[in-house]
Amino acid sequence: MNVAMLSALVLSAVAMTAIVAIRYLATSGGFALATARVRPGLYAALGPQIGREIGWSLASAAIYGIPAGIVAWGWRQHGWTRIYTDVHVFPLWWLPVSLLLALLAHDTWFYWTHRLMHRPVPFRIAHAVHHASRPPTAWAAMSFHPVEALTGAVVIPALVFVIPLHVAVLGTVLAIMTVMGVTNHMGWELFPRRIVHGRAGRWLITASHHQKHHAMYQCNYGLYFRLWDRACGTDRGLGQL
Ligand SMILES: [Zn+2]
Ligand SMILES: [Zn+2]
Repeated sequence: MNVAMLSALVLSAVAMTAIVAIRYLATSGGFALATARVRPGLYAALGPQIGREIGWSLASAAIYGIPAGIVAWGWRQHGWTRIYTDVHVFPLWWLPVSLLLALLAHDTWFYWTHRLMHRPVPFRIAHAVHHASRPPTAWAAMSFHPVEALTGAVVIPALVFVIPLHVAVLGTVLAIMTVMGVTNHMGWELFPRRIVHGRAGRWLITASHHQKHHAMYQCNYGLYFRLWDRACGTDRGLGQL
């Protein structure tokens, strides 16, 4: 690898870290502002905790940004990955199907690594950081120990080598991941009752579901869907928000 390629690689990793950090600050900051309006005082006593959540989250931004930057560099320089830009390469039905597949794959990886991290040793080493948020806030979205952050950071960079994803679908996956990561921790329910407590809510994870994980620990491990929790008997329903 020559110097120009190496500097492009480093630049890509740095740029992606900055993008992830800014995306986190903007999304968490936006929903924290919304929280101040919708639930005034909800975070009033949580100042020091929020400081720690932001610190861990910014460290996680680098851990997420570096592999993503390497893969983005490989995509541009060497045509790595199965990301495509011409929407007609695959039939149009592939767009929603690939979106669903990517979310299901991410959810599956998250469920099982998350369950593993609730075993005593991995919990002490890594996952306790995330659960130190009691209760979590909108700033806790990326509040992970570096070991846990690494397990999350590899998913999308690996997935793009396996599932052909249109760039817009990839962008949608990242947007869903970012927004749900924030809203599931912010301490109030963004979605209407008829969705959360209706037919869709039986299968989709929103704040009411993940809040119960933070309250009870040994249940509700999923990320986007309640499929694995329901199949494995770890679903304890919704918390009161
Ligand atoms: Zn959480
Ligand atoms: Zn957990």
